[in-house]
Formats: sequence, structure tokens, C-alpha cells
Amino acid sequence: MARYKGSVCRLCRRERMKLFLKGDRCFKEKCAIERRGYPPGQHGQRRSRRKLGYPVQLREKQKVKRIYGVLERQFRGYFREAERRKGITGENLLVMLERRLDNVVFSLGFASSRAQARQLVRHGHIRVDDRKTTIASYQVQQDQAISVREKSRKNEFIRASVESARGRGIPSWLELDVENFGGRVLALPTREDIKLPVEEQLIVELYSR
Ligand code: SF4
Repeated sequence: MARYKGSVCRLCRRERMKLFLKGDRCFKEKCAIERRGYPPGQHGQRRSRRKLGYPVQLREKQKVKRIYGVLERQFRGYFREAERRKGITGENLLVMLERRLDNVVFSLGFASSRAQARQLVRHGHIRVDDRKTTIASYQVQQDQAISVREKSRKNEFIRASVESARGRGIPSWLELDVENFGGRVLALPTREDIKLPVEEQLIVELYSR
């Protein structure tokens, strides 16, 4: 399946919640959810919320996929791996998504959205333990240092993101060193560290049908 290239605000409206896909705009009044918090389309306002079964499970899966910017095939791969690992499958799934390098770059505030973070990684602006890493899905490990390449620290987009992320806070499993455009993985995330309003059990039920 091809990557979605339409309006990302439509995706938030479809899920009836902020997915934070558009950087700074998501924190302002211009956010589409603030103005039109109902699903897009001619019948959007009339669409009722389903409470049970497949439609709810599907929406939950779509929501998580869209938040992390992962395509269906890759998402299914994460799920299979989450099933193989010890522990609760739904939690394993979220933890793996949270450990993606693009998510860490976004969480540290070097990019204003996960999509921008993915691009920074792919274009070689990010270093992991002082080694260039261009794989957005790379799973960070405990004690690893994540930093912006020296040459890229003057990049206006990165500077603007760092500036606007100030005061927003970062997850407790990460440590940020703003002056040196770097951060560290203090510990691997647990479900409690992931503050997303997601019911991962619904995704497990969907894939177990
Ligand atoms: Fe979603 Fe951000 Fe658009 Fe608001 S501005 S609808 S949070 S992508």
C-alpha cells in the first residue's frame, strides 16, 4: 500500500482526536480538530460512534498506525514480533513503535512531527552513538546516545523545532541535552511511559479474528 499523501488533518478528524501529525499547527487554534472535530466528508457530522466489534478495533489500529506513520505491512510485522516476545502482546507492540528512531527524534524535539523526524533520519542528519543511522525504524537501545549531526545543527527546521519544543516536556525514559542537540535513552519505555490514548487490546483482538 502506498504512503498516504493527502491532508493529514483529515486523518485526525477521521479518528476524532489529535494525532499530532502537523508539527506546530497541532498546538494552535488552527488545528482542524479544534475547528471541526467530526469526521470528514459529506456525512461526517451524521456519522455515529460505533461502540463494539470490528469497526472499533479497526479504528484503533488505524489510529496507532497513523500516529507512528507506519504502513499496514510493517505494522503487521510489528504485531507478529510482539506476539513472539514475552509479555503482553499489545504492550510489546506499543513499546516497539515507541522505540523507533524517528519517534525518539520527534520526542526529543529535533523535529516537529514524526514525518519530519523520519526525513531527518533518512537524510543522514541523525547519529546514534556517534554513527550515522539512516533507518527510521531502527530500535533504540538503553544507554544509546542520539544526536543531531554537527553540520546539521544550523539547519533552520531543526532549530525551529527545538525552539518550539521547549517547555513541552519529553518522556521520562529519555534525557535531553538541548545545548548539544543530543539525548540519551535512560531506560527502555514501558506501557506507563506511553501517554497515548490507545486501547491496544482492541488491536490484538482485530488481528486475532
Ligand atoms: Fe491533527 Fe495536527 Fe491537523 Fe490538528 S493540526 S488536525 S492535531 S494534524
